[in-house]
Amino acid sequence: MLDFIIVGQGIAGSMLSWFLMKENQQILVIDKFNPSSATHVAPGVTNPITGRKFVKTWLADELIPFANTTYNQFEELFQDTLLHPLSIIKLFDSVKAQNDWSVRSAMPGYDAYLKNEQVINLDPEKVKNDFGGFEINGSTKLDASKFLIHYRRLLQQKELLLDESFNFEALELHDGFVVYQGKKARRIIFCEGANAINNPYFKFLPFQLAKGECLVLKIDDFYADRVISGEVGILPTFINKDEYFMGATHEWHFDDDLPSEKGKNELLGNLSTVLKAPYQIIQHRSAIRPTVKDRRPFLGFHPEYKNVGIFNGMGTKGLSLAPFFARHFVQHLVNGTPLMKEVDIKRVLKHA
Ligand SMILES: Cc1cc2nc3c(=O)[nH]c(=O)nc-3n(C[C@H](O)[C@H](O)[C@H](O)COP(=O)(O)OP(=O)(O)OC[C@H]3O[C@@H](n4cnc5c(N)ncnc54)[C@H](O)[C@@H]3O)c2cc1C
Repeated sequence: MLDFIIVGQGIAGSMLSWFLMKENQQILVIDKFNPSSATHVAPGVTNPITGRKFVKTWLADELIPFANTTYNQFEELFQDTLLHPLSIIKLFDSVKAQNDWSVRSAMPGYDAYLKNEQVINLDPEKVKNDFGGFEINGSTKLDASKFLIHYRRLLQQKELLLDESFNFEALELHDGFVVYQGKKARRIIFCEGANAINNPYFKFLPFQLAKGECLVLKIDDFYADRVISGEVGILPTFINKDEYFMGATHEWHFDDDLPSEKGKNELLGNLSTVLKAPYQIIQHRSAIRPTVKDRRPFLGFHPEYKNVGIFNGMGTKGLSLAPFFARHFVQHLVNGTPLMKEVDIKRVLKHA
């Protein structure tokens, strides 16, 4: 008998299956390959300081170092570069913003992310930066698509992957185990990203999906070692020379997951407030983020079907959240360590 069937091999299912394997659990991953899934589309930045108020992101001091160590281990395993250290130049939009940052950066716990206290001025021929910007240390960019492809190959070599859409009608639930197409497992855990809203066991959870669109631009002689972050972010792809991701949009109401004219126009409008250098559009991408109303992941098991679980809700920050919370969930599954209340699905069950 298998220990776990995992449905979905985005960043969530990959991390969960990896930490389960490290605990010698017998697993099988079922995933329909989708190059337009959120993890394939994401530019892949981890950003410790976000928002107009320059606040440290939730658990940044724990999540980001753990994610970096995990991705570094995959670089060793796959003998390939996946993670690129980056600094972020966050542009000020006013003198008030400069002052807000000055106050924020003096607060305890911000030293690690403050590269230097000087206002940075970028080349005004390339970037609109009338008020300059500040430099955030400790950010990275993961080539998430490359990671998924490597990890998928690893699962295939070990014969642990079924490349197909999960058929809910073929799932049998028994006391203490499940059976799927003749394969018996103690538990099944769904990691389907935004497709969770179609899962008959978990569609009641308060997801609030957000479509995101981004562009790939060619910009000659631009900043190839940092993120320029204003109304939109511009960052090197590290795939081809002079190519940059820019984006992304956050659309709460949408009909499909496809790139749209509306999204492109919004991106170009925002781009014009940041970029002055000439550019060419190379690609337009989009996907749906598995965002949750309270912005926290979902870990746990169905209240009635005790061997049917979920690991999802990575929202806008899956690349920094997934490694840490996959290990957290595995510690719970294998050693019985309690789940953090903020991420346990029990927090919403009482309201369901
Ligand atoms: C434009 C954009 C930019 C982003 N930028 C960043 C960023 O810079 N940094 C960051 O950390 N995050 C970013 N995100 C968010 C990040 O992409 C997500 O948090 C993360 O990828 C979600 O991972 P996931 O594994 O939950 O879902 P997904 O990546 O969507 O993976 C789900 C997988 O499950 C499979 N699946 C689903 N249903 C089934 C089924 N029934 N049967 C078989 N297979 C199934 C899918 O095919 C897919 O392979 C961005 C998202 C978008 C859209």
